[in-house]
Amino acid sequence: MQEAGIPRPLGKRAQSTRSGPAPTLPSDSILVDMGLQTALAGHTGGELAMNKFLSVGDIRIHRIVELEGPFLPALDIFPTLSAQLLDANRHWLAPKALSRDDWLVFCFQSYVVRTPHHTVLVDSCIGNDKVRPTRPEWNLKRDENFMRALAASGFSVGDVDFVMCTHLHVDHVGWNTRLQGGRWTPTFPKARYLISKSEFDYWTEQHAKTPLPHFADSVLPVMEAGQAELVHDDYALDDHVRLAPTPGHTPHHVAVCLGQDGDDAVMPGDVLHSPLQARYPELSPRFDVDKDASAKTRRSFLERYCDTRTLCCTAHFPSPSIGRVTRWDDGFRCDSVEP
Ligand SMILES: [Zn+2]
Repeated sequence: MQEAGIPRPLGKRAQSTRSGPAPTLPSDSILVDMGLQTALAGHTGGELAMNKFLSVGDIRIHRIVELEGPFLPALDIFPTLSAQLLDANRHWLAPKALSRDDWLVFCFQSYVVRTPHHTVLVDSCIGNDKVRPTRPEWNLKRDENFMRALAASGFSVGDVDFVMCTHLHVDHVGWNTRLQGGRWTPTFPKARYLISKSEFDYWTEQHAKTPLPHFADSVLPVMEAGQAELVHDDYALDDHVRLAPTPGHTPHHVAVCLGQDGDDAVMPGDVLHSPLQARYPELSPRFDVDKDASAKTRRSFLERYCDTRTLCCTAHFPSPSIGRVTRWDDGFRCDSVEP
């Protein structure tokens, strides 16, 4: 999402109690082999430093959680959401996806994907030391959550071959860079950073009109270091990793599709932010650049993956954040798949 001028910080971590209708994957599934190891990272913060991964096809998917908790009031995020509709859905949203005071619970995370060929990091979260005055919980933060989670999953920054950003918003580019010797340097020293050329051009134009701090500290330094590659919105890295255009949230937002024989998994980025939007795909948050386009993209994305084997690895759904899309009346739901 785009940085917004809402002053209240993330107040508390998401409650871990499971509730609501989200069923778990049948235990006899042969498609997904789930592994779980509790990391010895000295962190007891729930999801933060756990080594949880899903194996699907011949790829392995790790969640790298940086932050999770109530983010903003649901009624503020969705301009067309009525209090009545929120009331009617509270029973299945709360407490995991909706806090007691009706704030939507968001997770902020990256995914690291190990394919037979490469290690790919999708979306790079919030980052440390970044000046973000309008969002106090991100502003100049210096926690070890991201790096601990990366290490707990068995990766070092030198292991990442490619960084792919679904779009260039502040919470998807943060760990592209880190502060070293007073300079923003690429966090992943040998990675190629694959960025939609059209998305980059759009934000270059916006940055020229009004300077965007996250573009300056987390995108441009990667360009200057010569580690960025600007690609088409339907770029294919190889036989396992490809982009699919999903415009609306930003003009050239892309989803990352994974798997050799069709999509074993897909990373929709900010095509949707909350399970409430699966249920009601026409709910567009105020931070979508084109709300009509994003609503169309959201519905066609959910329709495309409905009742398929594809794991939908969301950017912001509360933990476990990953699920399979099934139908729910005129909308959809994402049935959780939990390591
Ligand atoms: Zn986002």
